[in-house]
Amino acid sequence: MKMLLGGQWVEREKKIEVRDPFDDSLIDTVPRADAADADAAVAAAVKGFDVSRKMSVHDRARILFKTAGIVESRLEEFALTIAREGSKTIREARKEARRCVNTLTASAEESKRIQGETIPFGSFPGGEKRRGYYERVPVGVVLAVTPFNDPLNLAAHKLGPAVAAGNSVILKPATVTPLSGIKLVEAFMEAGLPELVMQVLTGHGGEIGDALVADPRPRMISFTGGVEAGRRITQIAGLKKIGMELGSNSPVIVWKDADLEWAAETCVSGAFWAAGQNCIGVQRLYVHRDVYEPFKKRFVEITKGYKIGDKLKEETDMGPMISEGEAKRLEGWVREAVKAGARVLTGGRRTGALLEPTVLENVPRNAKIHAEEVFGPTVNLYPVDDADRALAEANSIDYGLHAALFTRDVDLAFKLAYGLECGGVMINDSTDYRLDSMPFGGVKNSGLGREGIKFALQEMTEPKVICWYLPKS
Ligand code: NAP
Repeated sequence: MKMLLGGQWVEREKKIEVRDPFDDSLIDTVPRADAADADAAVAAAVKGFDVSRKMSVHDRARILFKTAGIVESRLEEFALTIAREGSKTIREARKEARRCVNTLTASAEESKRIQGETIPFGSFPGGEKRRGYYERVPVGVVLAVTPFNDPLNLAAHKLGPAVAAGNSVILKPATVTPLSGIKLVEAFMEAGLPELVMQVLTGHGGEIGDALVADPRPRMISFTGGVEAGRRITQIAGLKKIGMELGSNSPVIVWKDADLEWAAETCVSGAFWAAGQNCIGVQRLYVHRDVYEPFKKRFVEITKGYKIGDKLKEETDMGPMISEGEAKRLEGWVREAVKAGARVLTGGRRTGALLEPTVLENVPRNAKIHAEEVFGPTVNLYPVDDADRALAEANSIDYGLHAALFTRDVDLAFKLAYGLECGGVMINDSTDYRLDSMPFGGVKNSGLGREGIKFALQEMTEPKVICWYLPKS
């Protein structure tokens, strides 16, 4: 596929191969952009902003609704692209494609609700004879950098609000999964988005990232990815707005009065969705000691029933990790934990990029698999005796995106919900629940700012005050 630069779909002599992580087959190639392309993309986006800022709200909404319709009409094609280039099974990929339609539809709807308010200038001495208001105006050029694990919907979470707000936008998708993002940009163009308002640059973050990020012309960077790249970006971005949707290590507390069957079922899915490569995936499960054994038995039973393998087969529950290297990395973390005393209850074996869904207990607190973001198909179980201890354990890691708890005790639920340090608490659901229009983001190392269309629109616009001095009033 080509990249969209300055209104043209272009190729480059240097290419990046996009391969299916399941069997390493070549799917397609994309151009390998360089720093000169990055500069050209920003220059084109600056011109694009001159166009986008003047687009009427109804035009932006119309294009967004139309883009949503295009994705919906080719849902299976988008799903196949997601499933082939990434880790998701075809059933998981269909869900992502459907969510992308929602994200774009909500962007169209929210574009009509970007509002300001009147300012009561008379509220302090010196404000007399002034009348005015503020509007929210687009920030300008937005640089959107996206990760591999939700290659379509996470791009939509940036492109949709950027267009809704009247910004121009440059998409830099993950190098291993660029095709879904390119197809989404194609849909925007087909829907009639004026050229230059959107660019898509394919290239290695390590090669073009600094040129894009340090360029003073973009007014906002909207980044979703790992904490390491996030830190690098914040160090060199200079004076611009920054949205950071980073990783996590999500805790779940299962109390003795919980519906254990539901908790086990939904937490297994939450742990192994997209082969665990999910920023809100379940990583640590703190289970009340009174129900620890029955919960563990059921959790392991359901996990053992998972069919792993070919992503394109309807019956497959879990596909490979994004690369063999990543699967080896996590296999090594499991081994390290086992050496230090952890027990593997099921899983742990690897073939190529396929790591079995793996459940562990007795994991030492200093093992990587406990303390770091695993971003893969492993989950740890721990028995706990009291709620304060469970809360302290849940909060003991320097991430805080989502947390979850299962209980029927309302007092306990409120206590834990307010005590958990994170951006969202799911009660009687796993951490892996997200509605695309809810505020989404984290605290601590999980990031800065919020996405979720309406909330991304706040970040991608800024208030502008219009104040009249009316001496005769
Ligand atoms: P990553 O390695 O941080 O890459 C994310 C994106 O950043 C890619 O497009 C990457 O390009 C680019 N990049 C890397 N270095 C860069 C630099 N110096 N300047 C500019 N761009 C740079 O993350 P990933 O492995 O794709 O995704 C996994 C991570 O994303 C996990 O930590 C996960 O938790 C997080 N995540 C967070 C959320 C959320 O909403 N909070 C959602 C999904 C994923 P290349 O691909 O070319 O390296």
